[in-house]
Amino acid sequence: MQDLIEGVARFRRNVFPAKAELFARLATQHSPHALFIGCSDARVVPELITGTEPGDLFVVRTAGNLVPAYAPGADGVAASIEYAVAALGVRDIVVCGHSACGAMTALAQGHDLSGAPAVADWLRLADASVARTATGGDVPALVRQNVRAQLANLATHPSVARALAEDRLTLHGWVYDIPTGRVDDLTAA
Ligand SMILES: [Zn+2]
Repeated sequence: MQDLIEGVARFRRNVFPAKAELFARLATQHSPHALFIGCSDARVVPELITGTEPGDLFVVRTAGNLVPAYAPGADGVAASIEYAVAALGVRDIVVCGHSACGAMTALAQGHDLSGAPAVADWLRLADASVARTATGGDVPALVRQNVRAQLANLATHPSVARALAEDRLTLHGWVYDIPTGRVDDLTAA
């Protein structure tokens, strides 16, 4: 924890003054141009990977970068998606998977999750991706298939479907490779 406290002090001392104008503008303005949906994994840092500044990205991070298909009821992921698309008017949504994903590894290799029932329930949302991916514990194949499946789930959200139909939103599927820093765009034309 001490490193976090020292980090805040360094931020106030070194980083904040250098970006004072940006933060003054952001104090009254929130207009990100993209929604980034990534894995909660500590190694996948959206702003670092994309070279973006505070205020640029609206970010949702979930275990395995899973996006539940739309269903009525309270759902933090659905609320964030709707807010980003309908209220903030983001033009792009990126779903970003990554190499060595713990969630995808657990699924691909059939790990016993009985000691983590909430994780097991959450990862069940990726069952369709598991079923479509060849057996044999192929984690990279599942990571890619899973990103595609989440793009399909995204499109079931009414705000997303509407924006897609009106041609004011584009969906992107990425995979980030931790050891090389490379980003593969699965949806590139
Ligand atoms: Zn992950």
